[in-house]
Amino acid sequence: MPPKAEERPIRITTAVVIGAGHAGLAMSRCLAERSIEHVVLERGEVAHTWRTERWDALRLLTPNWQSRLPGYGYAGTEPDGYRTLPEVITFIVGYARAISAPVRTHARVTSVRRIDERYLVRTSQGDWLCRAVVLASGACNFPRLPTFANRVPRRIVSLTSQNYRNPAQVAEGGVLVVGASSSGTQIAYELHRSGRQVVLSVGEHIRAPRVYRGKDIEWWMDAVGILDQRYDEVDDIARARRAPSLQLAGSPDRSTLDLNALTAIGVRLVGRLAGVTEDGKAQFAGSLANMCALSDLKMNRLLDLIDERARQNGLDDTVPPPHRLRRTKVDEAPPLGMDLTTGQIKTIIWAVGYRPDYSWLEVPVFDRKGMVQHDGGLIPSPGMYLMGAQFMRRRKSALIDGAAADAHDLSAYLESYLNNRAPPSVGRSGHGAGAGLTVGV
Ligand SMILES: Cc1cc2nc3c(=O)[nH]c(=O)nc-3n(C[C@H](O)[C@H](O)[C@H](O)COP(=O)(O)OP(=O)(O)OC[C@H]3O[C@@H](n4cnc5c(N)ncnc54)[C@H](O)[C@@H]3O)c2cc1C
Repeated sequence: MPPKAEERPIRITTAVVIGAGHAGLAMSRCLAERSIEHVVLERGEVAHTWRTERWDALRLLTPNWQSRLPGYGYAGTEPDGYRTLPEVITFIVGYARAISAPVRTHARVTSVRRIDERYLVRTSQGDWLCRAVVLASGACNFPRLPTFANRVPRRIVSLTSQNYRNPAQVAEGGVLVVGASSSGTQIAYELHRSGRQVVLSVGEHIRAPRVYRGKDIEWWMDAVGILDQRYDEVDDIARARRAPSLQLAGSPDRSTLDLNALTAIGVRLVGRLAGVTEDGKAQFAGSLANMCALSDLKMNRLLDLIDERARQNGLDDTVPPPHRLRRTKVDEAPPLGMDLTTGQIKTIIWAVGYRPDYSWLEVPVFDRKGMVQHDGGLIPSPGMYLMGAQFMRRRKSALIDGAAADAHDLSAYLESYLNNRAPPSVGRSGHGAGAGLTVGV
């Protein structure tokens, strides 16, 4: 008989990192650099979420050069290409190997509790006692679903951007894709190309050209300091953290996949899905034109800023002149409703964002909405830190490219905590000083 939980031997280490995605591994590397003994606990294999929770045709929307992890980067011949899903997995697994990360796979953390001055971390493979814990278990554990999702008629198959894999999984006929950020637009495109009739429900989104003035938009955002903008430099960080991801896709031809590109091939746009009635009628907000105008406005503000910075830095003569995209074209009077009981729509794909899962965290660090409270990744429990959350310390915190600077900063905090020293002053110089921008993009 397996021993009861209370009788299981407890292993002791200094720090436990929960999650072997790129964020947990980046932290592992920074802890090792500081000679802090630690273990990385992973419920599956390294890069588990990329193996199990993404659609097959996904490519990173960030170019290859932009996956810079501590001591590791892109070494291939296509720095401006976009990794396929298998390439992302290979990249992260390669990183774990290169840094000899002390990962324990198939060790699902089932609870974290504070006991005296330490944390007791219980897992499916034994328990750990440690002084510091880093939560790197991911910001996208569950898909977000509106409360009315359960009113969708039973005969319609509901999928999410997390369990959608490829068109073969989707019945012939109509598909309603809900959400027009990067996931929703990519899935809508793929399904349309497979011959399905696709209706795309458009809520708040941020449009961006894939390539601007000859350079990838991510190159510009990196170069002008937008991605390095710090969490304590924006007026409303709560709002900034809720902002959707840029409406971008990575494709070999580096084309822009925006709503104009989708309507040009026959995808039909409707407003934000505001509700589903008891008798199975979808209700769309009448704000489609406004949503698109707002998105165009934000994109143009971003491009204005890029142009200004290019001028200030003497780049104007080295890149093509500024240009603007045509405004997003929408129907004057898009439908405000759709009867979901007619059999026309066979599948709904929800692509309206994700939320983390901290159901195993038994430490009182949650806010009223059930989110882990933190100040730039410092959780209000001694020796506890967060990684990988949206705009956690910098605008790029949830991107692969954001982990290096955040892990550098937070490992310094962690080390000073272990040594009972005053908190370090990190994050301003060298990493993420940014350009002090306040533009809301
Ligand atoms: C669809 C999609 C596309 C994206 N595209 C890009 C992109 O193009 N470029 C980019 O830079 N970023 C992209 N991101 C954002 C980001 O890089 C990914 O979300 C990334 O997976 C986050 O890394 P992470 O290490 O924080 O979390 P994860 O990769 O989710 O890693 C967390 C790990 O923790 C493990 N875990 C969770 N709970 C437990 C537990 N209880 N016990 C033990 N282990 C646990 C998980 O199994 C997982 O391996 C994308 C995100 C999504 C959802």
